Amino acid sequence: MKKITLSVVALTMTMMSFGQTQCKGLTKDSVECKNTTKTEVKLCHIHNPNHVVLSDQTTVVCSGTTKKNTKCKSKTKDVSGLCHNHRKN
Ligand SMILES: [Zn+2]
Ligand SMILES: [Zn+2]
Repeated sequence: MKKITLSVVALTMTMMSFGQTQCKGLTKDSVECKNTTKTEVKLCHIHNPNHVVLSDQTTVVCSGTTKKNTKCKSKTKDVSGLCHNHRKN
């Protein structure tokens, strides 16, 4: 009995992972986007304006210091590790 239950769970999970749909967005050349997505809006991370990048770019706290010589608390995704305020300098 236990084995059956486990295989059902595995099957359900497999089916869920295949629940990808093609993105409805268009590329710059007005070609259908070939990315697949699992989101309800049927837009891939490129076309979904609400997409939050979690792994591609990590948000870090700015390594710059303020005028008061305290650590900048702004968060940045820039590779320099500096927020927009400190990058301008
Ligand atoms: Zn897309
Ligand atoms: Zn900063």
